[in-house]
Amino acid sequence: MATKVTCTCGGTAIVKNEFAAQIGQCHACRSPVMAGDPSPASP
Ligand SMILES: [Zn+2]
Repeated sequence: MATKVTCTCGGTAIVKNEFAAQIGQCHACRSPVMAGDPSPASP
């Protein structure tokens, strides 16, 4: 199941599986974009 992820540049990246924390590529700037919710580690 592909998921659309918004890049920091405002473009859209397609990631196949957001739950797998995979990295897609932005179609606008071609930068790697990680899918899912990058939960920050608790200090
Ligand atoms: Zn981008």
